[in-house]
Amino acid sequence: MRLSRQLFVTLREDPADAEVRSHALMVRAGFLQKLAAGIYVYAPMMWRVLRKIEAIVREEHDKAGCQEMLMPALQPTELWRESGRLDRYVRDGILFHFTDRRGAEVCLGPTHEEVVTNYVRSLVQSHKQLPVILYQIQTKFRDEIRPRFGLMRGREFIMKDAYSFDVSAEAMAASYARMREVYRAIFRRCGLRFTAVEADSGAIGGSGSEEFMVDADTGEDAIAVCRERGYAANVEKAVSRIPPPPPPPTERPMHKEPTPDARSCEDLRALFPDLPLERMLKTVIYSVVWEDREAPVAVMCRGDREINEVKLLNHLGAVSLDLADEETVRAVTGAEVGFAGPIGLREDVRLLADRSVEGVQGFLCGGNETGTHYLDVWFGRDLEQPETVDLGLVQAGDRMADGDGVLEITRGIEVGHIFQLGTKYSEAMGAWFDDEQQRRQPIWMGCYGIGISRVAAAAIEQNHDRNGMIWPLPIAPYSVHLVQLKVGDPVQDALAGEIHDALEGEGVDVLWDDRAKVSPGAKFKDADLVGVPLRIVVGRDAGERRVEWSRRGEEGREVVAVEEALARVRAALAEIRS
Ligand code: ATP
Ligand code: MG
Repeated sequence: MRLSRQLFVTLREDPADAEVRSHALMVRAGFLQKLAAGIYVYAPMMWRVLRKIEAIVREEHDKAGCQEMLMPALQPTELWRESGRLDRYVRDGILFHFTDRRGAEVCLGPTHEEVVTNYVRSLVQSHKQLPVILYQIQTKFRDEIRPRFGLMRGREFIMKDAYSFDVSAEAMAASYARMREVYRAIFRRCGLRFTAVEADSGAIGGSGSEEFMVDADTGEDAIAVCRERGYAANVEKAVSRIPPPPPPPTERPMHKEPTPDARSCEDLRALFPDLPLERMLKTVIYSVVWEDREAPVAVMCRGDREINEVKLLNHLGAVSLDLADEETVRAVTGAEVGFAGPIGLREDVRLLADRSVEGVQGFLCGGNETGTHYLDVWFGRDLEQPETVDLGLVQAGDRMADGDGVLEITRGIEVGHIFQLGTKYSEAMGAWFDDEQQRRQPIWMGCYGIGISRVAAAAIEQNHDRNGMIWPLPIAPYSVHLVQLKVGDPVQDALAGEIHDALEGEGVDVLWDDRAKVSPGAKFKDADLVGVPLRIVVGRDAGERRVEWSRRGEEGREVVAVEEALARVRAALAEIRS
């Protein structure tokens, strides 16, 4: 492909709204154009990348016996009412929904459990028709609160979603295990460094869920990892052993102290330098929303630990929660924010505690009065220890739950999520089959998503340098960047044309920079920015049929014979195929 025939415009400056490198570089290289918040034009170069990712995804799914189909993006909202998810998706604001000219409610699919369950329920009668795994690659719509990072979190994006249908929990687990291997193969083939982590299965329930995280410091997700033990879990889900509480101090009577401006543990440390964080218990007020009601909940936790809001949400069986606003805090504690505590809280407020408060004695806690805290508080003596549950966030340096191995916290980008759904959708929507004894049973389901467009962004977040993107060869827009330094020079024209035709003839995708009025410096700059992994430069040595060979992102350039350069291209491509 000749570059001179493309609408190829690169930008010198990062776009103002780019917070991460992948976004900035993709826009500068002309891969992406923003149409509105979270909505992008995929330019031809970008589309080539996405199609390569899709091809790998298709091949691996087909190899595992999954069948591709395509479901409508436009869905009757009624299906969402049937599954019981409508209220939640509308309340969260994620669902794009509207009324058509006939007055029927429709929505743009953020995911397809409802549509696929509706499809399957009308076809499946007997256990003999199962198992089956269906998948599609399709545009999804989610009105994200904070669309950002370019393709990473769009409002319109491309997803591969697959759904498995089985006759039993064991069969579902087998499909799930098969899909896990499909996912590993896909991300390996895409040339990504990734970690499969245990994930929160949250309100959807089910017995298992894993996320596939591309390792990247800028990732939105935090992961607890113990390399020694091969453990990795999203911090939303991770458990650890909490460092033991400090020994109790000599017992003294509880007393209330003025702490005028001390609202945080840090402020309190300054006031009471001898009191360790482990003997300060914080109390956080949340506003919690359930399907049928709303109420404030107070949660205690040791001063050196943090509350895991996902665990809290799951424990409460709630649909959402947030830190309570000032007004609620005042109503519940009688004090300004920063002085909440377990003693003298409004009667009707539920009080819970993280496990970290167990065994802590002689502690400090909020006084439920502006500008005061209690000191030397003892559980059992001054108040009952509230119900404790694991509501804590694991921290770097924690030991694993069984006491062995130390956790570190790394970051990642979630590119895939696999899920055992159980019978949630089949029961809600009536997807049944007759088993061997002719008994009606709900179908056991799994669902499996990959953010195709997010994979592309994650690949660049993981692989770039100061000068631009560095595409992994399997998903690069082109495999070879053929840079011709002097266009119009007959010798260079002939040799570059020969290399271009030879590569295209072998089915190798090659981008030929044949622009006439662009300096060599600018061509190299663009080549670095675009990040095609294999580079052949036709220049001074063209007369001797010699070219310069290099790989994007690697040090060193070599002048080699044309045949040698072609052989290296073939070798590099053979390596990723095997
Ligand atoms: P996240 O936690 O990042 O919001 P999710 O858990 O809601 O994602 P799923 O419903 O599991 O996402 O969707 C499957 C996959 O689709 C995700 O693993 C991710 O790769 C991708 N994805 C989800 N939301 C977006 C988005 N707004 N833009 C691009 N890709 C997305
Ligand atoms: Mg997910």
